[in-house]
Amino acid sequence: MYLKPKKRLGQNFLVDKNIQRKLITAYELKASDCVLEIGAGYGELTMLIAHDAAFVYALEIDPALCKTLRDNTQGYANIKIINQDILRFNLRRYFGRLKNKIKVVGNIPYYITTPIIEHLLRYRDKIETIFITLQKEFAKRITAHPGSGDYSSFSCFVQYYSISGILFFIKKTSFSPIPKVDSCVVELKIREKPAVQVKNEKLFFRIIRSAFNQKRKTLRNSLDGVIPLRKLSRFFQVYNIDRHIRPEDLTLRDFANLANL
Ligand code: SAM
Repeated sequence: MYLKPKKRLGQNFLVDKNIQRKLITAYELKASDCVLEIGAGYGELTMLIAHDAAFVYALEIDPALCKTLRDNTQGYANIKIINQDILRFNLRRYFGRLKNKIKVVGNIPYYITTPIIEHLLRYRDKIETIFITLQKEFAKRITAHPGSGDYSSFSCFVQYYSISGILFFIKKTSFSPIPKVDSCVVELKIREKPAVQVKNEKLFFRIIRSAFNQKRKTLRNSLDGVIPLRKLSRFFQVYNIDRHIRPEDLTLRDFANLANL
């Protein structure tokens, strides 16, 4: 049974079977894998995952959809459907005792992409890899490197904890109803240790956020009031950095050096 899609829950279902298969290949599932799927919808991907993995926890916020999802996945002993909001889902409660790290997959609603990634990264010690399908523009932001117009404080945040990359693009016509924009599949491979050594993470992220708040300004101007000028001058001098540099040209290592100094 098909229900009227709820726009407010980002219900654009992936109906292209080739892309579904392509996603399963990209997940590189092993028979021992435990998978958390965010927003399982009608469960088409869930069932494909269940064929290759040990167990799937399928999260779905919409109670009406959950009912259909339960009917569709009947007979799969390795699928557990949970009617919950991912943002309230405590991964430690479910996966805290597992010896192996889990994989997280999801064709996630665009409107809560940022909070979902932030939420997942809080449990990074339990996660091996995150595969998410999201809006193309957002995917570019997450995976952008210094010098690119898409590089942002969120790119830094995500890349500090993971190695991120775009796997492939998905045309909007692969979904029903057809969304306004094309999508991308992004892989976030959680790092064993953050990308750079930082003495004070709070300060490190405060500097990054402040720097990108005023992206068009030079670093010196955007950090005015955040870091004393004499410290900033010392940073330029010690690390041989042009004092007119803009925030988007600094690497994670540069931000770490600045915070540590
Ligand atoms: N996985 C299905 C597919 O690929 O066709 C559905 C994808 S659809 C883009 C997003 C799904 O996430 C919807 O089923 C929606 O109800 C669900 N969803 C929306 N917000 C959610 C949240 N906060 N927590 C869990 N699921 C959510």
